[in-house]
Amino acid sequence: MTAEEPAVREAGRDFIRDIVEADLQAGRHKSVLTRFPPEPNGYLHLGHAKSICLNFGVAQEFGGKCNLRFDDTNPTKEEQEYIDAIQKDVAWLGFSWGDKPFYASDYFEQLYAWAEILIKAGKAYVDDQSQEEMRLARGTLTEPGKNSPYRDRSVEENLDLFRRMRAGEFPNGARVLRAKIDMASGNINLRDPVLYRILHAHHPRTGTAWCIYPSYDYAHGQSDAIEGITHSICTLEFEDHRPLYDWLIENLPVPSRPRQYEFARLNLTYTLLSKRVLTGLVREGHVTGWDDPRMPTLAGMRRRGVPSEALRDFARRIGVAKANSVVDYGLLEFSIREVLNREAKRRMAVLRPLKVVIENYPEGQVEELEAVNHPDKPELGVRKIRFSREIWVEQDDFMENAPKNFFRLTPGKEVRLRYAYFVTCKQAIKNAAGEVVELRCTYDPATRGGNTPPDGRKVKATLHWVSAADAVDAEVRVYNQLFKDPDPDASDFSGSLNPNSLEILKGAKVEPALAADNESEAVQFERQGYFCRDRDSKPGALVFNRTVGLRDSYAKVAGGKG
Ligand code: ATP
Ligand code: MG
Repeated sequence: MTAEEPAVREAGRDFIRDIVEADLQAGRHKSVLTRFPPEPNGYLHLGHAKSICLNFGVAQEFGGKCNLRFDDTNPTKEEQEYIDAIQKDVAWLGFSWGDKPFYASDYFEQLYAWAEILIKAGKAYVDDQSQEEMRLARGTLTEPGKNSPYRDRSVEENLDLFRRMRAGEFPNGARVLRAKIDMASGNINLRDPVLYRILHAHHPRTGTAWCIYPSYDYAHGQSDAIEGITHSICTLEFEDHRPLYDWLIENLPVPSRPRQYEFARLNLTYTLLSKRVLTGLVREGHVTGWDDPRMPTLAGMRRRGVPSEALRDFARRIGVAKANSVVDYGLLEFSIREVLNREAKRRMAVLRPLKVVIENYPEGQVEELEAVNHPDKPELGVRKIRFSREIWVEQDDFMENAPKNFFRLTPGKEVRLRYAYFVTCKQAIKNAAGEVVELRCTYDPATRGGNTPPDGRKVKATLHWVSAADAVDAEVRVYNQLFKDPDPDASDFSGSLNPNSLEILKGAKVEPALAADNESEAVQFERQGYFCRDRDSKPGALVFNRTVGLRDSYAKVAGGKG
């Protein structure tokens, strides 16, 4: 793993960690408290993994804590299914959040009380304009907004209307509560942002107790303050919201004064990391579900066989910066291979089988040969594999009219069968359509175990194979990029899909050990890549997912180590 290793920046340090360290050293905080605040309106994706590794990672490294807080302020999109899935995913990523998760909805009563305080201070008002009217009056980046005709309502009238909003007297959209800041501000977020809207909807946790819900901007910072968050870390698109975050903290009797810091979100080639798009993919049936192994969700990654350690490694490698960039998907695959190469047991599986009959091998004879489970981990032991007269090899490993530099099976050429023997291809047998359906080979008994014979003869290729008599049938699912372009179009995601993102190989032949292995274990199919058993497997009908292919050619992997 040297020549292929991508340039890796010095991992483990970044501007956020520098800030936290400086704050602790200067005594501005005794300990660090961060939070990861997902909205439970979808499953977590790789972008969230970056944020989780940052928030929980900082807390771990500096001896602090990180809260898991559900930002559950929009009941029309949020569901218990997502709350459960998010907890499962964060735990799977290897982080824990103490005895219980937090919920913004636990603060609804407090948030409401603080809204009344703003009203009483003349810093918030009830606006009767429609959404469209408000949008038109907000102005643009170059033009100031216009004051609402309701902006100068008295405190009494505002309080009365706000209380009646809460009491359910008005329909959805009839009124909102807005902060009274500055309609001419250069920062549009300060042009009297909405604090509360009317929404007669059932909330997964508070049921029908509320029919007004706080906006993200209002709930978020105040939730941070209630929990005593020291460093509120979010993505760059919230940079322009920071003045509002600070304004609210300054104008409310909050128990602590968190500070917000922004970092660049993760963007990955061939991938769209947006819950809107991911929800669309699921709802429109382009994938089989949130955990479809092609999805960039944590559930999809897990089902695909990606170890959580690989995602933590990936997060370390990409680091945390202040400028947006796009990360090459290959870097994620690199992290996955790093972990799996180290951990995965080696097995043999033939994905597209071609029958080989070894003519000079006695009929009915079966030999047990020894195969190592991991070239670098002798502690993982060895297994017995059976060799007999008929075996399966990969169709790709045969070529009838091969060019000179093709070292695998072709009439007249000798190759090594991994752990078994040298065999020489004699003849290809074809069906009526002219397709090669079987190879006839001979073997050299002096090469048992795949060892060089006494005459020192060498071969240039080593092939994997499975004995036909005890091969187990399996389905193998090979995944390719979900989108065909490196930079898919989020506004037309269904038009950007790769029609070949899933390849199903129904007739694979795998060695029997794969049926006996612990089903959650990742394995390397030699020369093919890393695979895991899918949960669609049934006894006698195994299904494997390809987690990732091998970048290295077999020559390097096996020749160098085996
Ligand atoms: P999406 O943009 O996919 O809809 P979101 O930001 O609306 O995601 P939230 O549930 O609000 O989703 O996100 C929780 C946290 O994860 C936020 O702090 C957000 O900044 C962070 N996050 C979301 N997407 C990314 C990303 N691509 N890279 C890094 N952090 C992200
Ligand atoms: Mg969000």
